Amino acid sequence: MTDRTIPFTRDQLEAVAAQVPTPFHLYDEKGIRDNARRFREAFSWVPGGFTNYFAVKALPNPYIIDIVKSEGMGADCSSLGELLLAEACGITGENIMFSSNNTPAKEFQKAFELGAIINLDDLSHIDYLETALGGKLPELLCFRYNPGKLKEGNVLIGKPEEAKYGFTHPQILEGYRRLKAKGVKRFGLHTMVASNELSTEYFVETARMLFELVVEVHKMTGIRMEFVNLGGGIGVPYRPEHKPVDLELLGQRVQQTYREIIVPAGLDPLRVVTENGRMVTGPYGYLVSRVLHKKSTYKEYLGLDASMANLMRPGMYGAYHHITVPGKEKGPRKIYDVTGSLCENNDKFAIDREIPDPAIGDLVVIHESGAHGHSMGFNYNAKLRSAEVLWQEGKFHQIRRAETYADLFATIDYPGLKK
Ligand SMILES: *Cc1c(COP(=O)(O)O)cnc(C)c1O
Repeated sequence: MTDRTIPFTRDQLEAVAAQVPTPFHLYDEKGIRDNARRFREAFSWVPGGFTNYFAVKALPNPYIIDIVKSEGMGADCSSLGELLLAEACGITGENIMFSSNNTPAKEFQKAFELGAIINLDDLSHIDYLETALGGKLPELLCFRYNPGKLKEGNVLIGKPEEAKYGFTHPQILEGYRRLKAKGVKRFGLHTMVASNELSTEYFVETARMLFELVVEVHKMTGIRMEFVNLGGGIGVPYRPEHKPVDLELLGQRVQQTYREIIVPAGLDPLRVVTENGRMVTGPYGYLVSRVLHKKSTYKEYLGLDASMANLMRPGMYGAYHHITVPGKEKGPRKIYDVTGSLCENNDKFAIDREIPDPAIGDLVVIHESGAHGHSMGFNYNAKLRSAEVLWQEGKFHQIRRAETYADLFATIDYPGLKK
């Protein structure tokens, strides 16, 4: 297996590590921008303009949101905290998609105040929203569709009929009728049936399903949909043998499907939008850590100063994250379990992985940490969450400092607790 390359040298990483203590997440701005431009270009055919609403949960740091905003993205939020981040970055109005579930009233109120597109997750939320907004509804509303057995899910998100999200097929028709009766003027349709999916055709089929539903809703209710939101879920090629989704091909195939279904039905123009997060930042983040210990018992262990509290995907899902030892890519290799220091035996970044054999004190880079990396971090074992650093082609900028014990204990008022 060949090592994947990283966009910085060992000396450059050591220079960052001299200023920012390891472990830290390092994000490559150029990688994020180049990919965002490709994605936008691939869907430039969309009438009325394509938008990817960046799913903020993937990397909820305003410096990153600023970058994707400047590349034309909106924000996909699912909580009040995510709305506050979007607002701070000057993303407001219909540049926010509020795709939440089990939503508290005050979160709907904040989304409405910002002018966000509200995407309802259930039929009962029409009345709930109306009450939350003091007896009115926004002029534009969107529904999340759950196709149930009509569509196979994928491993990460599970089978649609077992997922907690969205309206059933009969409910969605009923829902649009109700909105129309209540005087809502503008309508959108959304679905999110996959996560970390690498098959282009899966997304083409999702688009087909939504386009057909747009035609059906029009037949049954007379409603002309303004946009469809294909959701997020474009995957990241975590494993070296994985191939990324071909964005240009995906754009072309969705366009073909649009021409087959939407155009003949007389429903053109219909905007097509998405709300991907993982593919926007995932591949451009790197967890940089140092080797603390080597341990030889029934197995060979490499002990890092990072732990599952910095990146929980391997421990939680058994997810593969590629590991590079900068400067030793071509050196002798050895099989290790690569571990953190939590008192949990699943605190392992890799099990039985052959990697270049580092020395104690060497830097180790764990790839594709740019989505659900720092954001899924936690404080178990009283661990402090790490810094985040932005790499700007040779320069670096700390965009979040590491936590201190004062941060960790900030919410406990206890005499004698050293902060
Ligand atoms: C998580 C999520 C997304 C983004 O998914 P990615 O896998 O990051 O592309 C989009 N929409 C909703 C409703 C989500 O929950």
